[in-house]
Amino acid sequence: MRMLVVEDDARLRVRLAAHFSAQGWVVDEAQKGAEADYLVREFPCDLAIVDLGLPDVPGVELISRWRLAGQVFPVLVLTARADWQEKVQGLEAGADDYVTKPFYLEELEARVNALLRRVSGRTTERVDYGPVAIDFSARTVSLNNVALELTAYEYNTLAYLAHRAGTVVSKTELTEHLYQQDHDRDSNVIEVFVGRLRRKLDPGGQLQPIETVRGAGYRFALVPVAR
Ligand code: CA
Repeated sequence: MRMLVVEDDARLRVRLAAHFSAQGWVVDEAQKGAEADYLVREFPCDLAIVDLGLPDVPGVELISRWRLAGQVFPVLVLTARADWQEKVQGLEAGADDYVTKPFYLEELEARVNALLRRVSGRTTERVDYGPVAIDFSARTVSLNNVALELTAYEYNTLAYLAHRAGTVVSKTELTEHLYQQDHDRDSNVIEVFVGRLRRKLDPGGQLQPIETVRGAGYRFALVPVAR
């Protein structure tokens, strides 16, 4: 998953980037609105955290522009004070939620996870897909109730495919959402990760959790089951 953090306070921005990177996010950072606009045009974005008080463009203005341009990724705004008007303006511009500074990272993270659940169409952090269960907040996967050992990239690949469950995801989309800009984007690497994931999730070869759609990409084929 790829996140954009727009915050002119360098200390806070770096702290947020470090926190969410450790949670498996690819984080793009922008100090100003112009940089944020550029990143949104050039790179995909699964979620944005936007400080409303930016030095060049008001955060509200930035969000309005994105929405007018048809960008639908969830936006969480950071407001400097308990100013209800600013929050209302942010929400009216198209933000999905807000957090008032100062805040605990745990609260921000919980709100980020909630927005992602909504976009994914999930109601819980843990989802059972028959024998496979994924806990999206703990970043763990189990098969028949036995925890699987996945590397960070394997987990991120699986989580992204599951996030887009039912739709075909190209290798390009996977690399763009899972790697930093400067990372070597070799589609063979994706094939290796998917191959390993299949062996771990489906050692018997009967479940077919990740389908290959010839010439198009991959599709996460498991369907959530009520516990
Ligand atoms: Ca600010």
